[in-house]
Amino acid sequence: MGRLFVGVLGVSTKRRTIIAGNWKMNKTFGEGKKLAAAIVEGVKDKKDLPEIVLCPPFTLLSEVTESTKDSAVKVGAQNMDYRDEGAYTGEVSPVMLTSMSVGYVLIGHSERRQFFGETNATVNLRLKAALRHDLVPIVCVGETLDEREDGLTDAVVRRQVAAALADIDETDLEKIVFAYEPVWAIGTGKTCEADEANRVAGLVRATVNEFYSRGESGQKNKSTVGEQIPVLYGGSVKASNVDEQLALEHIDGSLVGGASLTAQEFLPIIEAGAKRVARVPSKA
Ligand code: PEP
Repeated sequence: MGRLFVGVLGVSTKRRTIIAGNWKMNKTFGEGKKLAAAIVEGVKDKKDLPEIVLCPPFTLLSEVTESTKDSAVKVGAQNMDYRDEGAYTGEVSPVMLTSMSVGYVLIGHSERRQFFGETNATVNLRLKAALRHDLVPIVCVGETLDEREDGLTDAVVRRQVAAALADIDETDLEKIVFAYEPVWAIGTGKTCEADEANRVAGLVRATVNEFYSRGESGQKNKSTVGEQIPVLYGGSVKASNVDEQLALEHIDGSLVGGASLTAQEFLPIIEAGAKRVARVPSKA
């Protein structure tokens, strides 16, 4: 039986289960349309479904939104600008996303950090923009292989989480989702050991609690807001390893790259999420 957590309002909550697929820069228009339709068909009439989120490229957002309407499948963007509009060639704003019924957005994915100049500071700006526009932000954190080998995993993850939350009020946290994604496990086939993924996911949650705990040590006003925040694991998740991950205390779902690109691989991961929902029913 899942653990019962006490939320920020003092109400007992159980954390929701989320299975998100990040298609990255894959799928033509026709391919994406087919894949979305296959996922919708695959979850039709299924019970205990987790929150299912497809994050296609921008070119497919409109089509995937259309294909998934009236289904349990939600749609997210892989990135967005933090400004509402203006002369920013090539960018897509939160206003544009919400105007087409996109409900989620990935923020600070390691590929954005690695290849497109995303920093902890811009992650914070995007997170504030997502909250302002009522998008559910999935904030990605995780260490590189060098950082892990240098024993810096915890310091890096703590810094990324704290920087993302700068100047964000505790009362605005309700919508935030974090994803722990060790960079060395993304797209490499190397999965982080489930116990270690669970430990770091717990560290993400503890860091959120510490961030909002105030006062001198010894007489701290302790925050438990982190207990209500879903933390996903991402990094070579597949049908063969997801059950073990989702059985652990701090892992509330999966952010899936490669294995979200076919219905054949993604549907069993959704099924694993459904098993967690059956064990840990979330509060509506
Ligand atoms: C990702 O894109 O966030 C990811 C975890 O990719 P993969 O599952 O392919 O490692």
